[in-house]
Amino acid sequence: MSGKPLAGQRAVVTGASSGIGKAIALAFAEAGAAVVVNHHSDVAAGKAVTAEILEKEGRAVSVGGDVSKPRDVQRLFDAADSHFGGVDIVVANAGAQADAPLLEMSLEDWRKVIDLDLTGAFLCAQEGARRFLRQGLEPNRSKALGKVIFVSSVHQRIPWAGHVNYAAAKGGVRMLMETMAQELAGRAIRVNAIAPGAIKTPINTEAWATPAAARKLLKLIPYGRIGEVEDIAQSAVWLASDAADYVVGTTLFVDGGMSLYPAFRNGG
Ligand code: NAD
Repeated sequence: MSGKPLAGQRAVVTGASSGIGKAIALAFAEAGAAVVVNHHSDVAAGKAVTAEILEKEGRAVSVGGDVSKPRDVQRLFDAADSHFGGVDIVVANAGAQADAPLLEMSLEDWRKVIDLDLTGAFLCAQEGARRFLRQGLEPNRSKALGKVIFVSSVHQRIPWAGHVNYAAAKGGVRMLMETMAQELAGRAIRVNAIAPGAIKTPINTEAWATPAAARKLLKLIPYGRIGEVEDIAQSAVWLASDAADYVVGTTLFVDGGMSLYPAFRNGG
């Protein structure tokens, strides 16, 4: 995309101190948006992302918070209000894994992932929608009243043995997104999701960091390369922009074909 497709817009990006969230925050700033850069435990990393944006004459502010806690979520949006005068885009990106086979999974690990990956996404999207409605439409800023983008996963569709909490959370995000989109489309709020395939980030280092692991992973990716965070960030810029104004309630799979049942590519 050329120019500044998000000029004048304000975004809250959760889990923006690393990986996909960081890349989205940087790409949004590059596209002209002011960004609330949320970090959780890694304060220095969150501040470094903000500093990188400010160095390039962008607008950003670092705000700590645990997105599974309603009060912390409020704080993110209050920062968007006080620093940038409001919010137009919410990216519910923060997520984590706590893997174990089903028979061994602790209730604690089940709850940890559901609380963050599903409930955290719900809290951020709900608060964003409330703020959009309070602000009202500003056609000079964007055709839509507001945009919500969930960072889901191919595992909203592909069952994943050994990761039942994560797959259940991402499957839940899919229905959260579609139901929310259906409920709010008539009020000019666009709700969508991006489902990344395998992207090189800290969440899955063991899956790509050694040549043997990368070879194994590539068998699952018809396009023949492991994804980069920029693949997701550029999709997010487009989805948040007015170029995608008619895109409502859709999951954009950015996965090099991972969700195409690659085991069947030679006829099964
Ligand atoms: P990552 O570990 O780099 O990013 C996760 C981010 O979430 C981190 O910045 C972390 O600080 C933040 N976070 C953790 N707990 C938090 C909390 N309680 N409150 C706020 N933030 C919190 O990994 P990533 O790959 O960039 O993951 C980002 C999103 O992308 C996740 O939702 C993940 O499920 C999804 N995803 C990643 C891949 C992939 O291959 N990397 C694939 C599909 C989906």
